[in-house]
Amino acid sequence: MTEQFDAIIIGTGQAGPSLAQRMTREGMKTAIIERKLFGGTCVNIGCIPTKALVASARAAHMARRGGDFGVAIDGPITVDMKQVKARKDGIVEQSNNGVTNWLKTMENLSVFEGHGRLESANSVRVNGDLLHAEKIIFNVGGRAAVPDIPGLGDVEYLTNTTMMEVDFLPEHLIIIGGSYIGLEFAQMYRRFGSRVTVIEMGPKLIGREDDDISDSVREILESEGIDIRLNADCIAVARRDGRVTVTANCEPGVEDIVGSHVLLAVGRRPNSDDLGLDAAGVETDQRGYITVDDELRTNVPGIWAMGDVNGRGAFTQTSNNDYEILAANMFDGDPRRVSDRITNYGIFIDPPLGRVGMTEDQVRDLGRNALVGKMMMARIGRARERSETYGFMKILIDAETDGILGAAVLGISGEEVIHSLLDAMYADAPYSVIQRAVHIYPTVSELIPTMLGDLKPLE
Ligand SMILES: Cc1cc2nc3c(=O)[nH]c(=O)nc-3n(C[C@H](O)[C@H](O)[C@H](O)COP(=O)(O)OP(=O)(O)OC[C@H]3O[C@@H](n4cnc5c(N)ncnc54)[C@H](O)[C@@H]3O)c2cc1C
Repeated sequence: MTEQFDAIIIGTGQAGPSLAQRMTREGMKTAIIERKLFGGTCVNIGCIPTKALVASARAAHMARRGGDFGVAIDGPITVDMKQVKARKDGIVEQSNNGVTNWLKTMENLSVFEGHGRLESANSVRVNGDLLHAEKIIFNVGGRAAVPDIPGLGDVEYLTNTTMMEVDFLPEHLIIIGGSYIGLEFAQMYRRFGSRVTVIEMGPKLIGREDDDISDSVREILESEGIDIRLNADCIAVARRDGRVTVTANCEPGVEDIVGSHVLLAVGRRPNSDDLGLDAAGVETDQRGYITVDDELRTNVPGIWAMGDVNGRGAFTQTSNNDYEILAANMFDGDPRRVSDRITNYGIFIDPPLGRVGMTEDQVRDLGRNALVGKMMMARIGRARERSETYGFMKILIDAETDGILGAAVLGISGEEVIHSLLDAMYADAPYSVIQRAVHIYPTVSELIPTMLGDLKPLE
């Protein structure tokens, strides 16, 4: 079949379905193509399932800590992994059904299930059909990167995708990669009851964060019994006697780690290699990310790329914002730009990290005249009342403009508390606005004005 559309969207990640809705409401005859699961990574194998699992792990952790709060729980705390997975699957199913039904009942939208590939700058083949449109938009996301580790071909390894099928407790889970995906799995499986070792190639966990954050995260994880091996510069894996052996360092005397399962969590790669980009001359960068301008246009007129595949963000919020930018420019005459976006993300270990703007290292590298404020969670009443005093909050202020350059909240509710600072940054407000604000007591946010009252020059 050959069919003409006004627009074709390939991929149903965090931007495509919303764009389909907007386009169809604008009267455009639209096609959307999905090769696997409606809703993409976040809904099916990313944010939603992992946060559901994190919640189960926290329940186990808090049950074990019952005694700290004067709550006696007789007998050992056990985790039923089949039930943990079933709970997670139920939550995912609800979201997946929501997106699937939304798309399949959308007026003016044709849904194709299959792999979409460009045949030219204005045509896409999916299954046996050839679709034509003047506008083509990618929202194809990425997948787990599988690095070239010696011995990997001989062992069965897990990725963030196959972890979603695990309904048993690995006796000893070895995780290669100490960034956010690896650490979320590390803590949750430790709390479920596995022995866990994290192997990280760099000199610290979550390499892009400041040293004080990495150190504090390491302390939190080690306090729960997770083994962490940094500077693993010679990683190799092997299968021996039904177990997995991972070599981290090749120096003599450094022992290998022997575990029951190995999880690869060494980053993601864009789904751009099987899109037929050459047929239209769409450019990518050296790592395979589709190159886009500030309004998400590729180098080929009539083709855009949204979400993780354009390398301008790697989060649900950035993908969704890409949709907003594209729609604003296409329909509203509103020149929204990717560069207007303020960096922000959460790391959902427990306690979580909320981050906005620049790190302290980045501010230093820029040589900015800056002020810094820091407050330990142990000083915050709310954290003490809840006996969860790990972490700290930190803020960087431009000493000339009084604007907020960046902030981090590692501690209870950190992923929520960070938003008062993020919103002030979007409002381009000087820090004194928050310093003078009266916050609710007892909360974690309540200490932000206090922290702002005690700024020191960044040395
Ligand atoms: C374990 C894990 C945890 C995460 N946790 C968080 C979190 O807590 N918070 C957060 O903000 N982000 C998180 N992320 C990242 C987040 O999932 C992504 O940033 C988000 O899903 C945005 O992706 P996207 O819109 O670019 O596309 P995706 O969600 O990746 O969807 C792309 C879709 O396109 C389809 N597709 C690809 N190629 C084709 C083709 N040729 N034809 C047809 N269909 C195709 C795919 O099947 C997929 O359904 C996590 C990711 C992982 C892996």
